[in-house]
Amino acid sequence: MKPVLTQDQKDKLECFQALKNGTCRCGAAKQTGMAFCFACWRHLPENVRRALYQRIGQGFEAACRVACEYLAAWPPPTKKQGKEAVCK
Ligand SMILES: [Zn+2]
Repeated sequence: MKPVLTQDQKDKLECFQALKNGTCRCGAAKQTGMAFCFACWRHLPENVRRALYQRIGQGFEAACRVACEYLAAWPPPTKKQGKEAVCK
């Protein structure tokens, strides 16, 4: 059976979904339209951050994948459960 989507198309879809999602891979809330929350983004090496500014179809998917692999080896920031530490 042939896969319906190529790996490249799957990467693009995942990227779109990650961008639309309001929750980062680490569980923190993030800005929609951004691939990661600020804490994760700040942890990325500068060349990866810069690569994430590329458009989907122009290198963003690859950058996203590299960033995910990089962040997978990094413990995400402590999730704030229940009691929210929100400034009011
Ligand atoms: Zn995050």
